[in-house]
Amino acid sequence: MNPESFSLTNSVPTYRLYIDGAWVHGTGQPLADDFNPADRSLFARVEQAGPAEVERALDAAARAARTWGATLAGARECLLLRVRDVIHRRRDEIRDALIAECGSVFSKALWEIDYVIDLLQSAVGDVRHAFGETMPMTQAGQVSMSVRRPLGVIVGIAPFNSPFLLSMKKVVMALAAGNTFILKPSEETPVSGLLIADIFAEAGLPPGVLNVVVGDRVAVGEALVRDPRVRKITFTGSTCTGKHLAMEAARNLKRFTLEMGGKSPLIVLKDADPDYAVDAAAFGIFLHQGQVCMASSRVIVEAPLYDAFCEKFVAKARTIRTGDPRDPATVIGPLIRPAQCDFIDGHIVDARAHGATVMLGGTHDGPYYAPTILTGVTPAMRIYHEESFGPIVSIFRAQDAEDALRLANDTSYGLSAAVITNDLQKAFDLSLRLESGMVHVNDCTISDEPHVPFGGVKNSGFGREGGRYSMEEMTEVKWITIQLGKNSFPF
Ligand code: NAD
Repeated sequence: MNPESFSLTNSVPTYRLYIDGAWVHGTGQPLADDFNPADRSLFARVEQAGPAEVERALDAAARAARTWGATLAGARECLLLRVRDVIHRRRDEIRDALIAECGSVFSKALWEIDYVIDLLQSAVGDVRHAFGETMPMTQAGQVSMSVRRPLGVIVGIAPFNSPFLLSMKKVVMALAAGNTFILKPSEETPVSGLLIADIFAEAGLPPGVLNVVVGDRVAVGEALVRDPRVRKITFTGSTCTGKHLAMEAARNLKRFTLEMGGKSPLIVLKDADPDYAVDAAAFGIFLHQGQVCMASSRVIVEAPLYDAFCEKFVAKARTIRTGDPRDPATVIGPLIRPAQCDFIDGHIVDARAHGATVMLGGTHDGPYYAPTILTGVTPAMRIYHEESFGPIVSIFRAQDAEDALRLANDTSYGLSAAVITNDLQKAFDLSLRLESGMVHVNDCTISDEPHVPFGGVKNSGFGREGGRYSMEEMTEVKWITIQLGKNSFPF
């Protein structure tokens, strides 16, 4: 990081905020401690924004919007490519920050970085595709057209679980579309957000175009959401927070995009290869210790395959390596905070009390939650309905494909779903009827690419992120007419 971004106290960095192209002190109190989830050691301290820094960021973003919105496409493309090159150069530093601050295991941290590199390349292609239209002429001599214009200032609020990737999805597309941006990272992963500012600064981004403000989630977050200079809120996080922010945004007549929680079903039909299905289900629930919005937290297996699937899945889960996230062989690293272990414990206690069977796991060693498999889960249990956000999966027995569909749709969420079968006709029929923003056939529920319409239905999302879908949501259509010659007015 730029030496101006922090000071050292007993070898622990204290970071500043990035506003209007400078590293500035935060006047919010007190300093926030940022812990390494693996051992609760102090990873960093971070200064907190007070009202003065919030105002400074809003003012800078609003001023910069006038010039950034008018930059030529080529200049924005060059910036994105320079950012990509900086990320290539700083790959190890970003990886280490994701491991130490977020508890990412080695491979997941690298996946985040590779995704962002791909995102930047893909966004370069989107810059010149913010197309308008010409309209049919209905008045003599009139040329009628629509043009896409940047919105102005966009505020992004990001979660802790993939802090680099999920923040970058918002920042990159907003800037590509000609907007300026204020990022409020999660209080669990503020340094990953500040790192983004440092990367853009190194790539030569003009002052004010990107500002990163860390601070109290309510005081800072809601002040940003309510301010009239902000034209759009792009949020990724829990459904509860998203609904609250949507109401704030609506009250202030702002656009919003919400990417929220999930309870994603993976359906295994009776003709599936059980070994392949087990591999897909294991990746789907154990990646990043289950702290993934698209995690396959419900596996629904057609009856004839159920017993064989359960036996093989438990055997596979026993082999999953849990421990130090720095070790490239580790699959399950630490959960983000101790309270998250308590929350999952609560799901297990409740499920047991209502008759569920814990086939594997159900315990944790400090922050390391064991791979956990439940059967006999019913609607009477909290885990049937609530997102656990941990390495814990419920396996359901379905009588047939229709019953699997009924179970899959029996949730308030609708982010991602998967169907494993060789019967593509049945798979396509289910894909159309699954109440889910995304469906993957013969794959697991975890999938994301920069150019696809990523997002959920029901309590999982509102709007889409990715490629041209982001460009549409981050620009507005303006109707312009030009009268060639004179119009004839009736009076
Ligand atoms: P969270 O809702 O607790 O926090 C998300 C962000 O919202 C944080 O930056 C937080 O500081 C901020 N926030 C909270 N209250 C606020 C308020 N009143 N005003 C303004 N900002 C506020 O979520 P989390 O625990 O960080 O992330 C986990 C959740 O995110 C899970 O539910 C997961 O499914 C979801 N998620 C969804 C996606 C997706 O793409 N659909 C991706 C990743 C995570």
